[in-house]
Amino acid sequence: MKKISDIWLNRFKTASSVAVLTGAGISAESGVPTFRGEDGLWKKFRPEELANFDAFLKNPELVWEWYNYRRKLIEEVKPNPGHFALAELEKRVHSFSLITQNVDDLHRKAGSQNIIELHGNILRNRCLSCGRVSGSADMDFSEGVPKCPQCGGRLRPDVVWFGEMLPEEAIQKAYAAAETCDIFMVLGTSAVVYPASALPEIAFRKGAFIVEINPEATPVTAYAHVSLRGKTGELLPEIVRKLTAGTEND
Ligand code: NAD
Ligand code: ZN
Repeated sequence: MKKISDIWLNRFKTASSVAVLTGAGISAESGVPTFRGEDGLWKKFRPEELANFDAFLKNPELVWEWYNYRRKLIEEVKPNPGHFALAELEKRVHSFSLITQNVDDLHRKAGSQNIIELHGNILRNRCLSCGRVSGSADMDFSEGVPKCPQCGGRLRPDVVWFGEMLPEEAIQKAYAAAETCDIFMVLGTSAVVYPASALPEIAFRKGAFIVEINPEATPVTAYAHVSLRGKTGELLPEIVRKLTAGTEND
C-alpha cells in the first residue's frame, strides 16, 4: 500500500500501543546530514573512521574536532514538522515508545516524552575515568581534549561508537516495545545497523502492523504492511492531520 488510507489509519484509533523507530533521515529536513549521503562526509573522512574508540585513542583531538563541528550544527537546527507530528501522535495513543538511533536531541526539543535513545546523545559527555556524565557547557578545550570537571579524566562524547555495545536499559526497553506494540513505524532509517535493524522484524513476527516512511526502499520494505515513499517531514504531519480530522468528525 502506497497511500495514506483511512483503512489502515483507523488502526491508530484502536491501537493500545504504538512503537516508532527513527534514524538520521527524520532529521535530514532540519539540516542535519545523514551519514550515508555525500554531505555526511567531513574533511573527506567516512564516519566509520572517526566514530570508533580506536580513532579516539589514536587522535582524540581530531575526533573531538568532528564532534564539536556536529554538535554546533545540531545546536543551531530546529525540529521539523516530522518531529512535531510524532510528539502530537504520542498524545493520541495510549502507550507510545519513540526509539531513536539519532543523537541530536531533536525529538525532545519537539516535545516527545517517552524517548528511548539507542545511540546516546551528542549534547552529553562521559568521563573515561569516573564515568560521570556531563553537559556540553562543562567542556574546556584549552588543553586540547576536554577534561572531566570532577576527576580530571578524559571526556568523550556520550554516544555509541561503531563496535560498541548499546546501553542495556535502552535496548531492553526497545525490545519490549517492539514485542508488545500493535503498530510499529520505521521512519527515516535504512534499517541496516544491528541491533536497531532487528526491531521491526521482531515487531512483525509478533504480529504488529508495520508502517515505513522513507524516500528509498529498505530491507523493511519487503515485509512492511504499508511503505510510503516520501519525506517524514511531509507525510507524518499528513497522517496526524487525517487522524485529527477523523476524531473531530466522530
Ligand atoms: P540511516 O542508516 O538511518 O539512513 C538514513 C535514511 O534516511 C536513509 O534510508 C534515507 O533514505 C532516509 N532519508 C533521507 N531523507 C529522508 C527524509 N526526508 N525523510 C525520511 N527518510 C529520509 O542513517 P545514517 O545516516 O546512515 O546513520 C547511521 C547511524 O548514525 C545511525 O545511528 C544514525 O542515526 C546516526 N546518525 C545520527 C544523526 C542524527 O542524530 N541526526 C545524523 C547522522 C547519523
Ligand atoms: Zn571523571
